[in-house]
Amino acid sequence: MIWAVLLAQATATAPVPLWRDPEHDGAADAGAACLRINPGNIGSAERVNEVVNAAKANGCAIRIGVNAGSLEKDLLEKYGEPCPEALVESALDHIKLLQDHDFHEYKVAVKASDVFLAVAAYQGLAEATDCPLHLGITEAGGLIGGTVKSSIGIGSLLWFGIGDTIRVSLSAEPEEEVRVGFEILKALGIRNRGVRVVSCPSCARQGFDVIRTVQVLEERLQHIRTPMSLSVLGCVVNGPGEARETDIGVTGGGNGKHMVYLSGLTDHTVEDADMVEHIVKLVEAKAAELEAADVAKAAIAAE
Ligand code: SF4
Repeated sequence: MIWAVLLAQATATAPVPLWRDPEHDGAADAGAACLRINPGNIGSAERVNEVVNAAKANGCAIRIGVNAGSLEKDLLEKYGEPCPEALVESALDHIKLLQDHDFHEYKVAVKASDVFLAVAAYQGLAEATDCPLHLGITEAGGLIGGTVKSSIGIGSLLWFGIGDTIRVSLSAEPEEEVRVGFEILKALGIRNRGVRVVSCPSCARQGFDVIRTVQVLEERLQHIRTPMSLSVLGCVVNGPGEARETDIGVTGGGNGKHMVYLSGLTDHTVEDADMVEHIVKLVEAKAAELEAADVAKAAIAAE
């Protein structure tokens, strides 16, 4: 099993816990931190037993992954179609199954590609159990459509206080899923790591190419982990106001010269051609300053 060797190598070096479908026998032995069972196609109780035993032997958690697209036949017959009640019943049946096996290290997902169905199912499940919930809008679509659906579905559930882990599912590069998930958490103030960019849509008043500048800056600033804010506004209509509220700000001016704000105050100007490089350097310097302040604070607290 080449994949098992690769998984073992991956789990040894990955900075995050890895999960795997138990249909791939040996996933638990290969070091997966979590196994996913889909009640709609896991098969017999005996098969569940095997998965639980493998999880117990290897200290793995299990994710019960109910999916509207693969609900058990008896539930589809009972309810006529995938509905919140059917998803919740499937989840509760499998929670009981794991509990009957004296297995308690699990979390549960009740995913659907329909936002209303998924959100209603998660709300129902949150009322029925207090176990950890893994949120997701499954098969959400491509980068733009899927991001919007995931933001509405996952975002509203998190806003209600429901959910413990999330997965954004896009027909896009996996890195995009991670970025979208992180942006959802950032927008809700659940994670603050990295640069929060405030930027305008641009218009005829812009003093520089706002859209392209923000695109490049977002790429160039991905390595920053320190929470901080940066405003990039095309002109003085809203620029100074936003800059006052951010750590670093830039506002488009005339003749290719733009105003830079530090800690909310006007500080100096920068030429068009140097702007991106200059902002990247300012952000990196601010990040280093904030990190040093945190270290000093921690040292004082430890005294
Ligand atoms: S800040 Fe200025 S450039 Fe940006 S959208 Fe508003 S008016 Fe247009």
